[in-house]
Amino acid sequence: MNRKIIHIDLDAFYCAVEELHDPTLRGKAFAVGGKANRGVIVSCSYAARQLGIHSAMPSSRAVRLCPHLIIVSRRHGDYSTKSRQVMEILRSFTPLVEQISIDEAFLDISSLKESGETYARILQKKISDELGLPSSFGVASNKLVAKIATNVGKASQGKNDYPKAIQAVPPGAEAAFLAPLPAEALWGVGPKTAARLEDLSIFTIGDVAKQSNEDLRGHFGKVGPDLVRRARGIDTRKVQTSRVAKSVSKEVTFSRDTTDENKLKETMRWQSKSISKRLKKSNLTGATIKIKIRWSDFTTISRQSTLPQPTNNPDPIFNTAIQLLNKYWKPRRPIRLLGLGISGLQSPPRQLTLWEIPKYDNQSNLQAAVNELRKRYGDQSIRKARDLDF
Ligand SMILES: [Mg+2]
Repeated sequence: MNRKIIHIDLDAFYCAVEELHDPTLRGKAFAVGGKANRGVIVSCSYAARQLGIHSAMPSSRAVRLCPHLIIVSRRHGDYSTKSRQVMEILRSFTPLVEQISIDEAFLDISSLKESGETYARILQKKISDELGLPSSFGVASNKLVAKIATNVGKASQGKNDYPKAIQAVPPGAEAAFLAPLPAEALWGVGPKTAARLEDLSIFTIGDVAKQSNEDLRGHFGKVGPDLVRRARGIDTRKVQTSRVAKSVSKEVTFSRDTTDENKLKETMRWQSKSISKRLKKSNLTGATIKIKIRWSDFTTISRQSTLPQPTNNPDPIFNTAIQLLNKYWKPRRPIRLLGLGISGLQSPPRQLTLWEIPKYDNQSNLQAAVNELRKRYGDQSIRKARDLDF
């Protein structure tokens, strides 16, 4: 079965973020980087690239090359916030997202219905509409070709503005797509290897693809056959989702030790909701509910119970937590800290696709409708009557 892999690369990410803060930078030759003596250019606008400025260039040299170059210093916090927001948009389509740098990621959307190109367009528009950031995409049956496709797409666009490219390589066309590109475009071929390939009159990826495994093994050892395989557009690496949290938990230390049952219950209700929200955001469910109680003398107990079915809804989490509390808490024994957590996390077995209406049983049907309302109109749009303050 052909996989559908998308590679996304935000266009001149740092510059694009700076432009959001200062729209007067739009279209100008500017760069983000250190202004001081030994500063280095981190990212530069497409107008600056036209003048020969590139990232990793010492700022002093950049200014000598282009005296009117505007150098903006970095706003780190902001970049990572924006990056996180982009990744959240990607993860709202599939949990199979592998972030490879602050502005690059792979998505495996094989289980989704529409073509990779369609999703790339939707994502590009969403990232632009919601975050104001330009992005480029490569779509192919594997990571290697998708990433190269992004670069090819970017290079084929006009040079004065953000490329906002979408380049798709249909399954079966991988080798033909790669063939005319310089060997250096291949993953694993640095300048040194490229020079050695040139000595062998191997210039393009197509030239590499024509080599026999044995020939290249003779010249490059065991990486030789790897190069041949990649040059033919073959790459079986999976999209590696970033380390998934093993548990989600919330702890509350009371300002004063408490024996108030209502207060304990309300705390657990809040914890359940907050945990549920976190799980839903990462499209995860969990099965083992654990509570932690620290008594006033600082001794601590943890007790857990496993649900028959994994969940990410607040009610089953809350109900199980209350059962555990009732079982292990003797009323009037003061509690200093109350923790609630869920582990045994997993992705739900079936991903919802954009245009599919999932079949729900009644209870989750209700919950799904509630989630939808909250997503559209905010958390407070629909609440249980018992949560209302009178
Ligand atoms: Mg980028």
